[in-house]
Amino acid sequence: MEIKVDKLSFDYQKDIPIEKRLINKLSFTIEQDKITVIIGKNGSGKTTLLELMNGLLKPQSGKIIIGDYVIDKKNTVDKEFHKKVGFLFQFPEEQFFHSTVEKEIGFSVDQFQYRVNEKEKRVKEALLLVGLNDSYLKRDPLTLSNVEMRKVALASILIYNPKVLFLDEPTVGFDEENKKSFLKLIKRLKKRYHKTIIMVSHDIEFIHKFADEILVLDNGKLITQGDKYEVFKQEKRMKEIGLTVPKMIQFSNLVYEKKGKKIGYRDEINDLIKDIYRYVK
Ligand code: ADP
Repeated sequence: MEIKVDKLSFDYQKDIPIEKRLINKLSFTIEQDKITVIIGKNGSGKTTLLELMNGLLKPQSGKIIIGDYVIDKKNTVDKEFHKKVGFLFQFPEEQFFHSTVEKEIGFSVDQFQYRVNEKEKRVKEALLLVGLNDSYLKRDPLTLSNVEMRKVALASILIYNPKVLFLDEPTVGFDEENKKSFLKLIKRLKKRYHKTIIMVSHDIEFIHKFADEILVLDNGKLITQGDKYEVFKQEKRMKEIGLTVPKMIQFSNLVYEKKGKKIGYRDEINDLIKDIYRYVK
């Protein structure tokens, strides 16, 4: 589903003039079936923006259009909306309140009234999708590691198959192995299940591997939006607002600056090495 944000303004305080609000007349479009990553230094309003787009916070002016839904200061979203739009919180453990992983994941579909067999099957499938096996079903979610908790929280969203996924810092604490499997999962969610994925992440090196679009926020304002190369080639501008760009892009920029030679931007180090080899020859 496409998402349109139109002159959106919001502040946690009620009576702040529009130009002083945390989110101030923000407008952009997020294309469907793509992975969009929102970056920006701490406090720039990324989580707030996600919570507005998910209907958890109400805009003070402007609107957000997601499929047939319009979120503005009057509208509150309903159950149907939450079936289409999943939200993975930054600290999922704060949302757990069941005694087992099975109940925790199953709870999120109770409102959809599946038959018992169907529900059990879906719980197992969702768990498998995030890389956890059946042995987790009877575990107490609060005894799991942070990484496992986040996987359980993600499974409890994937089980009801939403079209749009909002993920707030989904890979904090993940080691390389976990990141690899997460990367596989979100690529699969995009390609095979046609999900629109919007993610907030600090991990520039990691998001470089999969982001289609990058949206840069600073002090609640949109600084730039575009495909990852368009955004990351603006290394100076990124630095000015306290952000770094992926090392491979830094390297390509350096070669261009020092040698006047464009070796291009690459996702994989092997491709970059081949380019340099060609250049040196
Ligand atoms: P980011 O995700 O980019 O770090 P946030 O959206 O979390 O930024 O926060 C933006 C600003 O809003 C920060 O100054 C933060 O302190 C403030 N803020 C966040 N949540 C609340 C809240 N519930 N009440 C009041 N202020 C908040």
